[in-house]
Amino acid sequence: MALLVMKFGGTSVADIDRIRNVARHVKREVDAGNQCAVVVSAMAGHTNQLVAWAKEASPLHDMREYDSIVSSGELITAGLLAIILQSMGIPARSWQGWQIPIHTDDAHGAARITDIPGQEIRSRVMAGEVATIAGFQGIGPDGRVTTLGRGGSDTSAVAIAAALQADRCDIYTDVDGVYTTDPRIVSKAQRLARISYEEMLEMASLGAKVLQTRSVELAMAYGVRLLVRSSFTAPEDCQPAGKDDLDNTGTLVCSEDEILEKQIVSGIAYAKDEAKVTLLRIADKPGVAAAVFGPLAEANINVDMIVQNVSHDGQYTDLTFTVQDGDLPRAMQVLEEAKDKIGYEELRGATDVVKISVIGVGMRSHAGVAAQMFKALAERKINIEAITTSEIKISILIDAAYEELAIRTLHSLYGLDAA
Ligand code: ADP
Ligand code: ASP
Ligand code: MG
Repeated sequence: MALLVMKFGGTSVADIDRIRNVARHVKREVDAGNQCAVVVSAMAGHTNQLVAWAKEASPLHDMREYDSIVSSGELITAGLLAIILQSMGIPARSWQGWQIPIHTDDAHGAARITDIPGQEIRSRVMAGEVATIAGFQGIGPDGRVTTLGRGGSDTSAVAIAAALQADRCDIYTDVDGVYTTDPRIVSKAQRLARISYEEMLEMASLGAKVLQTRSVELAMAYGVRLLVRSSFTAPEDCQPAGKDDLDNTGTLVCSEDEILEKQIVSGIAYAKDEAKVTLLRIADKPGVAAAVFGPLAEANINVDMIVQNVSHDGQYTDLTFTVQDGDLPRAMQVLEEAKDKIGYEELRGATDVVKISVIGVGMRSHAGVAAQMFKALAERKINIEAITTSEIKISILIDAAYEELAIRTLHSLYGLDAA
């Protein structure tokens, strides 16, 4: 018998028929004697609608009210799933974030879970009642509803799995696992049977939205075994936990030593939400970088990639860096205000860029991965505007027009294409 957390995303609960399908996945586990807590997202598109309404009401809205609005989608799906399970003869009860309770900090709109006491839900699940849980939400220190950032139901699921000490956390979505890259962009992308927490963390934070980054951080910190799988596989065709063949079901996110065949590059991620800022003709002398990045940090603007050009005359240089595209208007404003202090000739901002990253733990022990990458892109006449690296990843910034070509080129280059 296993204690399972099962999470179903928006497309998996998009209408009543799909919620019935979810209930059949749950029934399979219950019939096999497994105990289940089921975390659900809002119906596909519902959260976007709620966000749009909040913006339409007032672009600069109170984030406490934003949270009370956008958290409502999940309440509906949790209730509907409980009703459908009950109608199938399965004892079930829905839970909102505050009822468990899922405690968070007060960062409304992007709150972090602080703790989940959850004795009541645990004892009920242990006694065989299925808990259907509204994902994406918690309760802040002021007693008000919070949300965990877009895609946050993944994080709810992993946090609940850690709190309940579940045997596994199954993330059901609209793809049958984590792929070498987004299967919507590259049709030759392949499902990975296993991926390490570290690689998944890089993939998620560098743009692969199949899992929210925070959920992977939590899974790694608490050793939660995560299985990413499809809700569209017929429930009857899946084996219940304990009897299933993990290597042929979805993708297991696990520790590195559980992976025997290590690839040099495991996956490629892309992020379109980067913006590029260029300062032309700034003085090439000590203190200039501090004059640029100090005010940005004070304004809470995160800077990602940074490139400073070689100065030809020893006096002036150009500086390019990236920020989140949503932060671009504020970044430009901050730099315009600091113009006299920094001393630059021209300030440019652009959003027509994309960040592409190749990720793999094998890079730690293999040289030449970056050199191969730069050569292949040069052959395609793709110009690299900025580069950052870490032990297990290389990220480049390029013109957004070349996004698909670059991803496909790199996917083939590192031998990731399906036969
Ligand atoms: P859910 O609503 O179930 O949470 P999401 O839309 O958040 O689903 O995440 C699933 C989507 O993530 C897939 O449909 C796919 O297009 C996208 N995706 C991006 N990168 C990858 C990847 N490397 N592997 C699998 N899916 C990916
Ligand atoms: N419904 C929320 C969103 O669309 C949370 C989630 O689906 O994970 O972001
Ligand atoms: Mg998601």
